[in-house]
Amino acid sequence: MENGKLVIFSAPSGSGKTTIVRHLLKTFPEKLQFSISATSRAKRGVEENGKDYYYLTPDEFKKKVEAGEFLEWEEVYAGDCYGTLRSEVERIWASGKHVIFDIDVEGGLNLKNQFKDQALAIFVMPPSLKILEERLRSRSTDSQESIARRLEKAEKELKTAKLFDRFILNEELEQAFADAEKIVGDFLEKKG
Ligand code: 5GP
Repeated sequence: MENGKLVIFSAPSGSGKTTIVRHLLKTFPEKLQFSISATSRAKRGVEENGKDYYYLTPDEFKKKVEAGEFLEWEEVYAGDCYGTLRSEVERIWASGKHVIFDIDVEGGLNLKNQFKDQALAIFVMPPSLKILEERLRSRSTDSQESIARRLEKAEKELKTAKLFDRFILNEELEQAFADAEKIVGDFLEKKG
């Protein structure tokens, strides 16, 4: 579509951005579609290929990097690569919708730098690192080691919040939902 936009949600793992993104997809079903990232990490729990991620082998991932098929990609955790395929964004725009992303901070800023005013980059802020740790522990899909890695990364990411267009504090989920609806709703209405 002409004037296809990008709504980018980035935040430390466990800050609740995925919950907010899912809420927005339900609120604006005609306007937004989720960008499914490609990853070289193994499938977790009930995840599905083509729904949560496109699961690639490390070799397949590397070939797509070399072929220039990614708008952005990164080794988010040691050995695990994640990226946004150009074809995914084009597929969604072609269906007449705007694209919503749930990606890490560096990837989010990378897309913002490429797409400028066509993109809105939103940072979801957890109330504190302590609460973030509690959320990650209660999620129970992550190993001790994975939680430690995620917390270490979160500390660095919190320092980048000011580089985003907007931030949403996720202390109380209903309030975060309302803030997100307003911010994203206004952006989608805007001509441009
Ligand atoms: P998880 O393994 O928990 O599904 O995701 C790990 C991290 O990778 C999360 O912070 C998530 O936001 C990030 N991520 C997911 N998709 C992408 C992507 O396409 N690009 C980048 N840069 N990060 C991503």
